[in-house]
Amino acid sequence: MTAPLVVGNWKMYGTQSECRDLALGIARGLGRNGRHTEVALAPPSTALETVKAAIAETQIHLAAQNCHWEDQGAFTGEVSPVMLKDLGCEFVILGHSERRHILNESDDVVAKKVQGALRNGLRPILCVGETLAERQKGRATAVITRQLRIALKGLGKNAIDKLEIAYEPVWAIGTGHNATVEQIARVHERIRQFLKVLFGNRKGNVIRILYGGSVKPENAAPILRTPGVNGLLVGGASLKAESFLPVVNCLD
Ligand code: PEP
Repeated sequence: MTAPLVVGNWKMYGTQSECRDLALGIARGLGRNGRHTEVALAPPSTALETVKAAIAETQIHLAAQNCHWEDQGAFTGEVSPVMLKDLGCEFVILGHSERRHILNESDDVVAKKVQGALRNGLRPILCVGETLAERQKGRATAVITRQLRIALKGLGKNAIDKLEIAYEPVWAIGTGHNATVEQIARVHERIRQFLKVLFGNRKGNVIRILYGGSVKPENAAPILRTPGVNGLLVGGASLKAESFLPVVNCLD
């Protein structure tokens, strides 16, 4: 398995100068540590260029938080995968629960975005996860496998080398209540089984499956050590270098 990947999702936070300062603070901190972990930063799209400059001399990857599925066109307000690639993005977060649930992004839309990103050489970080109501009804696995099945439909076997999956239970995002390591291990194992069926045992085994949902310095190490967890997607705790760096370096 490749190195774990820790992604900072800054959501809709940060002016240019705030994002520059945060990126520089993280880059400075990682200069001394964090050699065993890959790091990506996903600032708001208005700060992608600024953050790209701030991390230029580092190993940190640039990630976008979303993209449109078309390469160009009459889609006012949207940003295309071509544009993100041109800006220097390597990753793009797709299907985040805030987009699915607040902006009504459907499984089919997420699928088209995954294809658009892959077509343009961006690595999708495909987010899946159940709501609290779905978990309480015993439907977590059904929901997650539906999200995966639709988002990954029709992709060739080689696509698996070019994407990451993030398991983000909706009830754990931004709530301060992370899933337990037992819950995380169980879902990651089911995702892994699903990927193996879809892409074959060998390919299905190599894809990184990240966990996201209220990760912070205090819980990062046990979560990252959980069997089947290959990285972390971090929201709130990525907005300060003092909380993001200990997460990145939690296994050092
Ligand atoms: C996220 O935005 O993907 C996330 C997991 O947020 P938080 O860490 O704040 O729960």
